[in-house]
Amino acid sequence: MIVILRQNAEQARIDALMASIRAQGVDIHYSQGTTETILGLVGDTTHVDEDWLRASDIVADVRRVSEPYKLANRRFHPEDTHVPVGDTQIGEGRFAVIAGPCSVESESQLLEVAQAVKASGATCLRGGAFKPRTSPYSFQGLENQGLELLREARRVTGLPIVTEIMSETQLDDFADVDVIQVGARNMQNFRLLKELGHCKKPILLKRGLSSTIEELLMSAEYILSGGNENVILCERGIRTFEKMVRNNLDISMVPIIKQKSHLPVIIDPSHAAGIAWMVEPLARTAIAAGADGLMIEVHNNPKCALCDGAQSLDPAQFDRLMQDVRRRVDFEGKALG
Ligand code: PEP
Ligand code: MN
Repeated sequence: MIVILRQNAEQARIDALMASIRAQGVDIHYSQGTTETILGLVGDTTHVDEDWLRASDIVADVRRVSEPYKLANRRFHPEDTHVPVGDTQIGEGRFAVIAGPCSVESESQLLEVAQAVKASGATCLRGGAFKPRTSPYSFQGLENQGLELLREARRVTGLPIVTEIMSETQLDDFADVDVIQVGARNMQNFRLLKELGHCKKPILLKRGLSSTIEELLMSAEYILSGGNENVILCERGIRTFEKMVRNNLDISMVPIIKQKSHLPVIIDPSHAAGIAWMVEPLARTAIAAGADGLMIEVHNNPKCALCDGAQSLDPAQFDRLMQDVRRRVDFEGKALG
């Protein structure tokens, strides 16, 4: 349920109304926008009397919100959310490009890629230190040593680092990571999501391989309801009957998310395409659809990559992609960064 307050309602009256709503055992999410102030009621609101609310002369309107996601819902929070990352932000007029290798493999590999993507204009560095692999016999990542190399790459380039967490037991090790990625396979790891709700860090939440948009928003709701408002959604393709792509990029999720939610959304064309030549055309669709950024896999020697080499761009290909991205982002009136 949302309660829209009248413009110029006195703060003392608002406080009194909020206290009597809270006394009914309901939490309130207070959102003061430039045009409207909204009280979003969270919890069991079935017993909250709409007529009683409407009778208050500081209340302009009362509406029931039928969607199960509340804090992620644009009706609770009409203005776009932007998530601060390093010296910049993701969302709201900015376009982020998170680039780097699928996995951190060595110091020279990571530094070479990090410096190349920085020179081409990437805004964040990605790299997996802990890799969720389908086979237990595949490279599992350099783990804590990989995190250390990411810190070093951040020192050298100044780029904020984005890396995937596998379990809530790793939170201390991830304390200085700039953006914590929750991978597609962990989108419904509810214990992990709850713990991430208790930290203030930006969380990049990837859509599960077979998850609906509503399920993605409900996973975001777990993090938001714990008190962490810094959630960035990421589409990386879903499984369908189609075999010519690794995953089907569901570009329609961008306008849907923009209508249903206030959270920023980025597109990962690399895991959708599965093949390097298709990354650039899919990246273009992301900008056209109104996404807030891209996540792109880049490797200094894709043929020898320990993970996802086929879909990785080399630095020259990434540089060409960035030239195109810059033109299109400028055209949309956004700033890269
Ligand atoms: C990744 O970003 O390298 C990754 C494992 O992605 P996803 O969780 O989307 O498969
Ligand atoms: Mn990958």
